[in-house]
Amino acid sequence: MSMEYRERDRDRDRDRDQEGRGKRKTFFRKKACRFCSEKEHQVDYKNPRMLSHFLTERGKIIPRRISGICALHQRALTTAVKQARVMALLPFTSTQRP
Ligand SMILES: [Zn+2]
Repeated sequence: MSMEYRERDRDRDRDRDQEGRGKRKTFFRKKACRFCSEKEHQVDYKNPRMLSHFLTERGKIIPRRISGICALHQRALTTAVKQARVMALLPFTSTQRP
């Protein structure tokens, strides 16, 4: 009996999640991956200005679900950001206030 209840509960959670996702889609326009849509824009660790668009003020990498990049390019971007950090082109962290 308890199992049944849990199963039902999980289903309800899933439904709520889907609802939430649907609602979010109506509020935000669908974002296409920037790197996929524009071939001129390429992930390059030597271009900190481009990479900084995908970082927070504190220098953290913005998650894919927010930036709207595809999985392939997010992975490339993470690597590029890490390379740029080692090359001192980007900060590992920053306490500076803009
Ligand atoms: Zn992409």
